[in-house]
Amino acid sequence: MSSPANTASVAIIGGGVVGAAIFHTLTHRGVDVVLLEADSDLAYAASGTNSGILHTGFDSTPGELETQLILRSAVIRPAVFRSLGVPVSHTGAELVPHSAEDHETIRSLADNASANGVEVRIRESDGALLVTGESVTDPVAFTLGLAKAALVAGGRLELNARVSAIDDNENGLTLHLADGRTFAALVVINAAGLHADDIARMVGDDSFEIYPRKGEFFVYKLPQGRSLNHIVLPVPTKRTKGVLVFPTLDGHVVAGPTAIDLLDKDDWTVRPDAHTEILEKAAAQFPALAGLRPVASYAGLRPAGRDCNYVIGSSATTERLINVAAIRSTGLSASLGIGAYVADLLPGLGIELGEQLAPTPVEPVVPRLPWWQRTLQHAVKV
Ligand SMILES: Cc1cc2nc3c(=O)[nH]c(=O)nc-3n(C[C@H](O)[C@H](O)[C@H](O)COP(=O)(O)OP(=O)(O)OC[C@H]3O[C@@H](n4cnc5c(N)ncnc54)[C@H](O)[C@@H]3O)c2cc1C
Repeated sequence: MSSPANTASVAIIGGGVVGAAIFHTLTHRGVDVVLLEADSDLAYAASGTNSGILHTGFDSTPGELETQLILRSAVIRPAVFRSLGVPVSHTGAELVPHSAEDHETIRSLADNASANGVEVRIRESDGALLVTGESVTDPVAFTLGLAKAALVAGGRLELNARVSAIDDNENGLTLHLADGRTFAALVVINAAGLHADDIARMVGDDSFEIYPRKGEFFVYKLPQGRSLNHIVLPVPTKRTKGVLVFPTLDGHVVAGPTAIDLLDKDDWTVRPDAHTEILEKAAAQFPALAGLRPVASYAGLRPAGRDCNYVIGSSATTERLINVAAIRSTGLSASLGIGAYVADLLPGLGIELGEQLAPTPVEPVVPRLPWWQRTLQHAVKV
């Protein structure tokens, strides 16, 4: 269905991986949809500054919405990745125990994984938990690819389109952009990451708050002869999930992240002390890192919900605004499941869904810089 330029059945606010996955899903159900992104390109925020790991959900709490959507994503993902030509490295992950408490944690993680239907194995020689399904991708190439395929499938994308106010009227919602443009839509999906609470407040919804939880990372080039071919996950303690080490698709090794709760949604800096903190923990698990100097660093801000997680559904004040907020730690993995879940909400709001189309094949998008350098070189200002 075609619409005048500034109207659409559905408008999505926010072009991170979550907004892009919803965009992809809806265009492949024949919905007339526009994606509005405040920045000059997609995936500069949390979606471009994470660990790039496609989690299986082995350690997620059984039954929670987050877990359901990670698992739902895993079913949809292979065909979509193939269609986008985005590489995935099926490395698997290992958690090596160092204490009696760790062995116990590993046993309970194995039980948790089996409750979620995720395949894991305990290695006889050292009791390590092997999570064969964990994999690594390029989160920026994935987000850009989703949007590219959605455009080919009939969607529209507006960059430099920062939503600054929303009017609720009889026929839907009118979005006012900071540059004076307006967009009218029957239903609006709020996938604005760190700013999802600001968007919800535009319709008087202050039911949730988003704060930034910073995660810092360091990128290394291993000396010749050394390599890492799987994700090294620490055995979690009651206090922390710890620092992980993973190989990137382009042959680097990344260690991180930290977890620092902030108030400033614009602070993407890496603290001077962060390297010592991370390297000590990372080298304890992967000794080849000891004494290495990083070739780069970056920080991501998780869009964390204050006392809430995976807030997905119609706003209590305005049914036509669907919040997709507080997608803190697993949005890359769960994004396609989130897209499918959001699509299921639309018929109840008068948006008809067409039959499910096969994912549109596109040439892979090759970002100009490695994904782990891209945001750093672009001051994120929303
Ligand atoms: C340190 C760290 C490590 C992580 N590791 C992993 C991992 O390994 N695996 C995994 O699955 N997940 C991981 N995550 C989580 C994952 O990155 C997030 O869950 C996901 O990126 C959230 O995506 P999003 O689209 O909701 O938000 P974002 O990526 O933050 O995107 C929101 C977008 O909304 C736009 N926006 C904001 N306000 C407006 C407005 N007013 N108008 C228009 N647009 C607006 C922003 O510019 C931005 O582009 C990690 C996150 C971090 C930070």
